[in-house]
Amino acid sequence: MNIPLLDLKAQFQPLRTEILAAVQTVCDEQGFVLGPRVVAFEEAIAKYIGARYAIGCASGSDALLLSLMAMGVGQGDEVITVPFTFFATAGAISRLGAKPVFVDIQQDSFNLDPLQFERAITSRTKAIIPVHLFGQCADMAAINRIANTKRIPVIEDACQAIGAAQNGTRAGVLGATGCFSFFPSKNLGGFGDGGMITTNDQSLADSLSMLRVHGSRVRYLHDAIGINSRLDALQAAVLHIKLKYLDQWAEGRRRNAAKYEQLFKQAGLLDRVTLPTTHSGNFHVYNQYTIRVSKRDDLRAYLKDKGVGTEIYYPLPMHLQNCYKDLGHQKGSFPVSEQAAEQVLSLPIYAELSESHLTYVVEAIADFYRRS
Ligand SMILES: *Cc1c(COP(=O)(O)O)cnc(C)c1O
Repeated sequence: MNIPLLDLKAQFQPLRTEILAAVQTVCDEQGFVLGPRVVAFEEAIAKYIGARYAIGCASGSDALLLSLMAMGVGQGDEVITVPFTFFATAGAISRLGAKPVFVDIQQDSFNLDPLQFERAITSRTKAIIPVHLFGQCADMAAINRIANTKRIPVIEDACQAIGAAQNGTRAGVLGATGCFSFFPSKNLGGFGDGGMITTNDQSLADSLSMLRVHGSRVRYLHDAIGINSRLDALQAAVLHIKLKYLDQWAEGRRRNAAKYEQLFKQAGLLDRVTLPTTHSGNFHVYNQYTIRVSKRDDLRAYLKDKGVGTEIYYPLPMHLQNCYKDLGHQKGSFPVSEQAAEQVLSLPIYAELSESHLTYVVEAIADFYRRS
């Protein structure tokens, strides 16, 4: 048995003809950067999310960077976010000369703890970036309540959460801007890098469209200092086709998550393995199915031996990274994030998995704990 963490070949096979035809069309047109294919895909994403505007860009990292730029974040400013995330969230803040101010996560959801948000706010706080980690929205009602009273704009890092929703509203319109990534391993993955920003705010949308083309509204005339961050027509064409299947893939992931839960219970593993929890009101799309375990690294090696691919998202929280030594944090500064980094293990969850695959994974985990 060989069960990789993600099998993109299995996803591509049934779409092969459809996708290659779209790629061929773009090749015949020879228009590669922005243009009508990108506009059509932006409109499709806006409709899907329920946003007035969607602005394509080169990556999820740039979606975050552009959002911060559009809000005027710069030198000396502070932006609040979590230490338990992919580096891009904090990196975007630092690249603008601003300081990431970390707030620890909730034990059960792995997302920003709203109870700790308020005391991290200072007169320099210019934005907050909650991350919808693993495909579940952060507690946006509580975050927005505090952010609104303090007039702090909220940027959703929804890179892992396209299609996720909270109380019926999709990620991407739960804050001022929503940032998405089309990196191949995301739930909507392109054939390379790509990103998108959604917003309901016309003036932000205008700024974002300008900033992604070097701050230009009229060619060769520059109103601001922007960057080069565009979405390619090839990516847009591929993603536009894949978007039609996104909900069906999310259903597959949710079905697999429910099956895992049943199998872990049946195997009597609930004292060994902490399963992911979904907060009420959340529609979880499981970009990752992340459990917490003891002896995590030994289990991971054992599973690898058995042909099961896993990954650790993420092994080192941001506040303990070499590049953030200057911030002066130490071990113990954000204990919930640190404990998560030691315990998390993400299992295969992609839609194409069959029940026998899931059974095999759970049995392998059961075997491991029987032996140890
Ligand atoms: C993937 C990811 C990003 C960055 O997206 P890229 O497209 O790879 O630049 C940012 N934040 C989170 C939480 C992510 O998972």
